[in-house]
Amino acid sequence: MTAKILDGKQLAQKTREALAARLRAAAERGAPRPGLATMLVGEDPASHVYVRSKRKACEEVGIRSFHLELPANARQEEVLAAIARFNADPQVHGILLQLPLPKGLDAEPCLRAIAPEKDVDGFHPWNVGQLFRGERCFVPCTPAGVMRLLDHAGVDPRGKNALVVGRSQIVGLPVSRLLLGRDATVTIAHSRSRDLAELVGRAEILVAAVGRAEMIRGEWIRPGAVVIDVGINRVEKDGGSKLVGDVEFAAACERAAAITPVPGGVGPMTIAMLLENTAQAAGL
Ligand code: NDP
Repeated sequence: MTAKILDGKQLAQKTREALAARLRAAAERGAPRPGLATMLVGEDPASHVYVRSKRKACEEVGIRSFHLELPANARQEEVLAAIARFNADPQVHGILLQLPLPKGLDAEPCLRAIAPEKDVDGFHPWNVGQLFRGERCFVPCTPAGVMRLLDHAGVDPRGKNALVVGRSQIVGLPVSRLLLGRDATVTIAHSRSRDLAELVGRAEILVAAVGRAEMIRGEWIRPGAVVIDVGINRVEKDGGSKLVGDVEFAAACERAAAITPVPGGVGPMTIAMLLENTAQAAGL
């Protein structure tokens, strides 16, 4: 079997085009333009790249982007004061605080300070609680992207054995809850789980969110499984560096029915879902 490649780049592009059309139509009806505030503290190069691509994506679909950079030595109160200003600004519908914060700053109180109705990342405890209660909320962007990829591939999780490898607050846990909400039988594996190979071998849907290059061997995959690889790992290979996922891609392709590539799978969908959440925050 050669797996179908679930092209997240293409699906994200379509999603963004559809959103842009929706926002144009809303603007013609006189609806206000949605606005997203991005906050970047410090000099982490990867964070700068992420925020730049989020802002560019906003502009392309017609979302106004507000941006604030604070120095790495910013005090906690300064970050909180900036969040309070964005909370009070009616032109700002969504607020994104790029993580990780530099050493010396505590992310948790900052995330809690974001107004839940502007929390487009879905990290505020109110949104987390709503998600786990199965009620309306901002669904965190990467888990939302995973579900959208499954839907687009025509995969109905109902009754299926789903394995989520990883139990982080931002990926593993919310994705598990979303799969449960779609009636999958969900197993969550983590660093203390025994016999990962056996668990993977039972999974009809496998979501890998670990952050270890190709740790899930292709030969473990159940024939016909759908594999969503969230992992992004930089490795040195053939004299250069490249990105790989948590799943051994080439070997997994021999057994899976469908699989996301890295890069070009879940990553682009994460940004598309952020844009949709911002439109939702603006009531559009
Ligand atoms: P975390 O480091 O927060 O969580 C990793 C999880 O993997 C933990 O629950 C950990 O278990 C588990 N784990 C570690 N080692 C093993 C092991 N040997 N066997 C089984 N489970 C293990 O990572 P994130 O959830 O934030 O991110 C995961 C990956 O996804 C990373 O590569 C990250 O870069 C990527 N990512 C990609 C995004 C995208 O847009 N595509 C967005 C966000 C993340 P334990 O809890 O026991 O420590």
